[in-house]
Amino acid sequence: MQIIEQIAAMRGWSEGERRQSHRIVFVPTMGSLHDGHLCLVRDARTRGERVVVSIFVNPKQFGPSEDFAKYPRNLERDRALLENLGVNVLFHPTVAEIYPDGYQTHIEVEKLSVPLCGALRPGHFRGVATVVAKLFNIVQPHVAIFGEKDFQQLQVVRRLVRDLSMDIEIVGHPIVREADGLAMSSRNAYLSAEERRAAVCLSRALCKAEKRVRRGETCAAALLQSVSAEIAQEPLAQIEYIKLCDADSLQEVDRVQGTAVLALAVRFGRARLIDNRVFKN
Ligand code: AMP
Repeated sequence: MQIIEQIAAMRGWSEGERRQSHRIVFVPTMGSLHDGHLCLVRDARTRGERVVVSIFVNPKQFGPSEDFAKYPRNLERDRALLENLGVNVLFHPTVAEIYPDGYQTHIEVEKLSVPLCGALRPGHFRGVATVVAKLFNIVQPHVAIFGEKDFQQLQVVRRLVRDLSMDIEIVGHPIVREADGLAMSSRNAYLSAEERRAAVCLSRALCKAEKRVRRGETCAAALLQSVSAEIAQEPLAQIEYIKLCDADSLQEVDRVQGTAVLALAVRFGRARLIDNRVFKN
C-alpha cells in the first residue's frame, strides 16, 4: 500500500491507473477506523480494480466549539488495517496541503444542508461538500462509497455530484452496527461504560418504530412520540432532534409516504451520536 501525502502525487497515481483502464474506488474517511469503515473498504474492493482510502480530519466541518482538536487519531493502527485489506493507496494529506494560505473557495449544497444536523451544526455541510469536491478532484475516482449512517451527508454528496456534473458513481453502504445494535462510530470512543450501555436505546427505538411501520403505522407524530419516549427513558440521553423526513429532499413529512427517513441525533456525555432508519411505504 502506498501512502501519499501530496496532491500532485495522488493525481499522478490516479492518472496512471486511469490510463490502464483501472476502475478506481474511493472511500473518504476521517480515520480512527472501525469495522464500519472496513466494511466500506471491503465493498470498495468488489467494485473496481483499485481502492483509495483517504484519512483527513477536515477542520472546515467542525464548528468552533466542536471536537476537531480532540477527534481520535490513530494513523499507525489505521495504516495496518488498510494494508491488511489490500488497499492500494492511503491518501493522507496535511491541512496545509488541502487548505493552503489564502484558501477562500467553498461549496454549498443549499437546501439539503439546512435541516437536521445542518440546523445544529452551522457550516458543517459546507465543510463536507467543499472537502469532498476537492478530494474527488484530486483522487479522480470512478466510484465513491459513503455510509448511510451519515444519511444527510450521503444526500448532500449525491446532490453535489449531480449539480456539478461530476462523472462519479456514489454508492451508499448500509449502517454497520455493533452486536447490540449501536451504530459504529469513531465517536463511540468518547462514551463511558455507562453511556455505552445507555446508547443502545437509539437502535432499539428505531427498531420498534420500524416494526410499527411494518404493522401499518404511517403517522409521523405517533412514530416520533414512540421513539422519543423510548430514548427519554435513558436519563443519560440528551435528545438534539428526532425527525421524520422525505428521504430525498430531507423535508419533514407528516406521514410515511414513498421513502422516508427517521433520523436522530442524541448526546451521551460528550459524545454526539446520530442514527437513522429508512422506511418505504
Ligand atoms: P467518518 O470517518 O466518520 O467521516 O466516516 C467515513 C465514512 O464511513 C462515511 O461515509 C461514513 O458514513 C462511513 N461510516 C462511518 N460509520 C459507519 C457505520 N457504522 N456504518 C456505515 N458507514 C459508516
